[in-house]
Amino acid sequence: MGASLPSTAVERGARWLQLPGGVFDAAGARHRDVWLRELTGADEELLTDRVFASGAQRASVLLARAIAKVEGIAAPIDEAFTAALSIGDRDALLLRLRQFEVGDHVHQVKRCGNPECGRKVDVDFLISELEVRTAEPLAPTLTLTLPRSDGSGELRLTLRLPTGADQEALAAAALPPAQANSLLLSRIVLDVDGRGPLSRAAAHALTLAQRNRIAEFLAQQAPGPDLAIDVACPYCAAPMAYDFDLVAFFLPSAR
Ligand SMILES: [Zn+2]
Repeated sequence: MGASLPSTAVERGARWLQLPGGVFDAAGARHRDVWLRELTGADEELLTDRVFASGAQRASVLLARAIAKVEGIAAPIDEAFTAALSIGDRDALLLRLRQFEVGDHVHQVKRCGNPECGRKVDVDFLISELEVRTAEPLAPTLTLTLPRSDGSGELRLTLRLPTGADQEALAAAALPPAQANSLLLSRIVLDVDGRGPLSRAAAHALTLAQRNRIAEFLAQQAPGPDLAIDVACPYCAAPMAYDFDLVAFFLPSAR
């Protein structure tokens, strides 16, 4: 069960965050404590003036500027470092930055999707109320067994958590959803039954049930904040659940 992002660190003014996942060094040790620096006008100018290939790349650049230090990591914190962070860790960092720079309270206006209603609805929540899944322990790679499509036993997959670099690659490829999913799987599945990585053709050939099982497994295993906002229309009671798009929200002109 996850815990909430502690608001106490914000109240103390300590610009600190413990990553829900963490970073593994070459020796296999995990590092989770991150210190953030205050953003300046120069950061804002860079974020608004520079043209980015995607919101994911923009987040990589922002995080590389915002992270002052990671406990136990001597190497400089550059875009390659922040792109290699898991999506959940990046989301947690962006939420914490948003708390620091703008505040804990989020106000959004959403339109009700019920065609007979369609009214504007105010949605309010606190970032500190979002559930955060942590993984204890977390290994650099995860193992998943899948039933073979022909029913003859199981496939054993070794995979890693998707990262910012994966998000950037998917945005650059601009593929339809199913092909994007094959590309992602070919990037994150490091081994199948000891025979090496999953090719894009092999990812393409996985059954829908197998692909869904992998997506479900990652959703269950991946540490990070739960960005699902569960609200109902106050006028017609239609469900209006959506995922908080924090890259777009924190960076208003992100594409
Ligand atoms: Zn409604």
